[in-house]
This record gives sequence, C-alpha cells and structure tokens, in this order.
Amino acid sequence: MSEREFDVVVLGSGPAGEVCAGRLGEAGLEVAAVESHLLGGECSFYACMPSKALLRPGELLAEVRRIPGVREAVTGDLDAGAVLKRRDEIIHDLDDSSQVPWLEQRGVTVVRGPGRIDGERRVRVGDDTLVARKAVVVATGTAPLIPPIDGLREAEPWTNREATTAKEVPDRLAILGGGVVAVEMAQAYSSLGSQVTVIERADRLIAREEPFASEHVLEALRENGVDVRLGTSATAVRAENGDVTLELDDGGPVHADQLLVAIGRRHHTENIGLDTIGLEPGKPIDVDDSMRSGAADWLYAIGDVNGRALLTHMGKYQARIAADVIVGEENACLPSTADGSRSPRVIFTDPHVAAVGYTLDAARQAGLNVRAVDVSTQGNAGASFYGRDDARGNTRLVVDDDRGVIVGATFTGPEIAEFLHAATIAVVGEVPLSRLFHAVPAFPTRSEVWLYLLEALGIAGPCGGPPRT
Ligand SMILES: Cc1cc2nc3c(=O)[nH]c(=O)nc-3n(C[C@H](O)[C@H](O)[C@H](O)COP(=O)(O)OP(=O)(O)OC[C@H]3O[C@@H](n4cnc5c(N)ncnc54)[C@H](O)[C@@H]3O)c2cc1C
Repeated sequence: MSEREFDVVVLGSGPAGEVCAGRLGEAGLEVAAVESHLLGGECSFYACMPSKALLRPGELLAEVRRIPGVREAVTGDLDAGAVLKRRDEIIHDLDDSSQVPWLEQRGVTVVRGPGRIDGERRVRVGDDTLVARKAVVVATGTAPLIPPIDGLREAEPWTNREATTAKEVPDRLAILGGGVVAVEMAQAYSSLGSQVTVIERADRLIAREEPFASEHVLEALRENGVDVRLGTSATAVRAENGDVTLELDDGGPVHADQLLVAIGRRHHTENIGLDTIGLEPGKPIDVDDSMRSGAADWLYAIGDVNGRALLTHMGKYQARIAADVIVGEENACLPSTADGSRSPRVIFTDPHVAAVGYTLDAARQAGLNVRAVDVSTQGNAGASFYGRDDARGNTRLVVDDDRGVIVGATFTGPEIAEFLHAATIAVVGEVPLSRLFHAVPAFPTRSEVWLYLLEALGIAGPCGGPPRT
C-alpha cells in the first residue's frame, strides 16, 4: 500500500485525459495520468485513426476513378493486405510507448492500471492511492453498447475494436446500426472486398444529420454494392461453424462471416467508484460549461464520459477548458456556440459529410427563426478537378434571419472535410452575413461554393447594394 499526493489526478488517458494532463503539467502542476490500457485511448488505436486508415485508400481510388487521365493509370482493386499493414503502422501495432514522452516532457507521472475513485479526492490504482490536492478529472470515455438481442453476445460480435484492428477482411460482413461508425465501416470493408449488409432500425442512415446527407451516403453505399436494410431490426443471432445468421423482423435472414455491432456507446462509469462519492455508476457525469460536476467542486469530467459530444476534438477542447479552470483561469472561458450536438463533425465516407451547428430541423425545434439555402458543392469551377459530374454533393447553410448569422452548415461531397473549418469559424464567430461577402474565395477552388450560397441567400453585394433575388 502506498499513498502519493498530486495537484490533479486524471483518470483515463485517451485524447481528452492526455491533453488535460499535459496542459496542467505545462502550467507547473503536479499531475498523475492514470491509464488502464493504452495511452491515447480509443481514438488513437481503435477508432478515429485506424478507421480513417481503412477508409482513405478506397476514397482515393474512387476519386481517381472519377478523373479522366488518372483513371486510366490506376487499374485493379485495392491491395487489402497493404491497407491493413499501413493501418498497423498508423496505430503503432497497438504500442503506446510513443505517447509517453509527450506526457513526461510536461512533468506528468503516468500510472498504469485501472483506477477507481475511492471517496473525496482519492483514486485507487491497485495498492496505490493517489490523493488530489485540487481536482480529479474523469476522462474514461465510452465502450460499445451491445443490445439485448437473443444470441448476440454468444455470437461474439465485432465491436469497433475488432473492426478497426482486424488482420483479415471477412468475405461477408453484417453490420448492426446505421450511425457514423456503421456507415464508415460499411464503406471501408466494402472497398476492401467484403460483401457488406447494413441493418438499421430507423428509416434513414446517420439520422442526426440533414436528410440529404443520409440520402447521399445511402446512394453511395448501395452503388458500392452494400446491401442496406432500413426500417429493419435483428431479432436473434446464431453463430455456428463460423457462420453468423441474423434473424430480422422484416425479410429473410442475413448470413455473414462476421457481425459488427455499431449501435452506440455506453459511458465508462460503471466500475470507477462513482458510488463512493454519491454518483450513479453507468451514467454520464453531468458537468457545467467549466467541465465541473455539480456533485463536488473537485470533480471534473471531460470527453465522451460527460456525454456532451462523442468526438475527439471536442474532448480535447473540454480538456483545455477544464485545465484552465483548475489552474484558475476560469474567467477567461467564453461560452461556445458550437458545442454538444452542434459540434463540428465529419463522416469520412465518400462522399464526406461535414457539418457544424444546427441542421434545419434541429434549429426549428430549438425555436430559431431560420431558413435554409442549398447549392451544389460541385457546381463551381474548382469542382471541375474533383470528378465534377460523377460526384454527388450538396451544401446547406441554416441562417438565423433574426440575427443575420449562420447557425448551421452541412456539406456533402468528395474530400470536403477540410471545408468545414471555414463554416465553423462563421458559426462560432457569429460572423454577420454582410461581412462574409468580403471573404473572397480563391479561384478556381471549390470554396467558391460560399459565393453561390451568399448569392442564393440574397445577401447584399460588397458595396451594400440591394439583395439579389
Ligand atoms: C470507430 C470509431 C471511429 C471514430 N472516429 C472519430 C473521428 O474520426 N473523429 C472524432 O472526432 N471522433 C471519432 N470517434 C470518437 C472518438 O473515438 C471519441 O470521441 C474519443 O476517443 C473520446 O476520447 P476520450 O478521451 O473521451 O475517451 P477514450 O478515447 O475512450 O479514452 C478513455 C481512456 O480511459 C481509459 N480508462 C477507462 N477506464 C479507466 C479506468 N478505470 N482507469 C484507467 N483508465 C481507464 C481507457 O483505457 C481509455 O484509454 C470515433 C469513434 C469510433 C468508435
């Protein structure tokens, strides 16, 4: 048994925990970062990074095939083995040693093992008790949700962990769910040669995004040969002799070699000692905008575990906020206009779906006086160089007419993820629409979509002339 004191103990060292610990260390605080598995968390090893490594080759090949001249130079299909090998390099063969120096350079003490809160300001890791003078920051993330479907657990389905680290591409892959992870993995594995079936209970894919985004992803998956069953639920699963059979409530059974469950996440709070401080295990840890829990003034929660936005960049953003508040700079915190479900987000299918702020429907539900304007992402000179006619793409701005600002933007199109940040700046910065006319997109870039959007909105020209209709 040993007892050590730190200013701050960070429980869980995924992207959120690491950034928070590092920032606190830089500020001169004594920090312990506790990690039970891999420093870098789900994102680095089983989520963002490997999934993009699996998606990018297929996306690139599709884009090349749209461009005459290169299309002829690239024949044949992807080399699945080489794709998996590159994925392994990107996830460092599940070795987190390259993450350690970054923390150590900031004076952070890394403590390996599962940690549990053990009463006020105390975290137990095995026989070690870490006592926090100032704060405990919980950053334990989420785990995959396995629904109570007859036979599902016994079938030992893939979760994101197996799907992102698989050593072989299954001939037939069935995917339960139609959210972001499901559509990304459907596209990745179909590009690598699997026959993929997607089973989604709702009547559209990626149901939180604009309906046109769901439509574009659906069309693209079906064009790639993915069998997408909407409005369909699995009622039972049987695994026998390497064959998985899914019984459905609508239509015949689906047979597959592997089954991936991607229906959502549960918060990693069951076994971290929340009961010792009067909080309910298994629930997200509610926090205010300074990432502090209402339950105790020394308790913070950042990243997926607080349930605000299940995205790495938002976890890291919250990490910076929490660290600054702990250091005592909380007066410098500004409220965000793109947090929670309005955070910037990208789905890396082909076409990409990139969105920030409200969808039209969500804005109306929030009581805003909004209208939407749509133009083709591909309807400008710059798009001539991005598979113009063969690539689908739409851009929508959601505009708050009472305030003359953009409150939401959604882009679909080939390789448009990098477009998103301009929209994020406009939304978060609440840039007046009249000012945006002076942000002139370079020619011939696809950013000219902004020009067409402003024209479609009937915004006055740069000299304040009357709006065009
Ligand atoms: C397939 C997939 C693809 C994704 N792609 C993207 C993407 O492209 N972009 C994006 O922004 N987001 C993406 N996400 C979401 C992203 O992975 C998460 O939002 C992000 O990992 C959350 O970071 P976190 O630090 O909150 O938690 P995590 O990354 O889950 O890290 C939590 C850490 O805490 C550790 N831990 C848990 N319990 C304990 C304990 N008791 N003691 C010690 N350590 C503990 C865990 O081992 C883990 O290392 C994706 C998710 C999935 C599943």
